[in-house]
Amino acid sequence: MDKFTVCPRCGTTIEEFRRTGLLGCAECYRVFRDEILSAVLRVQGKTRHEGDIPAVKEEKYSFMLEQQHLKEEIERAMRERRYAEAEELKQRLKESNRTRREEEER
Ligand SMILES: [Zn+2]
Repeated sequence: MDKFTVCPRCGTTIEEFRRTGLLGCAECYRVFRDEILSAVLRVQGKTRHEGDIPAVKEEKYSFMLEQQHLKEEIERAMRERRYAEAEELKQRLKESNRTRREEEER
């Protein structure tokens, strides 16, 4: 993936993603899929080799992946007019956000 890869929807660049680890929209998930996966592998690799890397970093990535996946699923469901399913996915997304916040407050 070259460093000029950019999300056509929100304009997030691969450079920005590498720097912040944040995706701008569900489309980013598709555009930067390879980069996300390699980032996850990198984090997991580090965790294995250097025991002092906090596991929370790995958690953050899997949380991010889950969120992006859900958003992507919601969009697909909406596009295919499966509104009940989209509603259910939105609930899961909300649930996931709430769980995350509670974990951070602890
Ligand atoms: Zn995007």
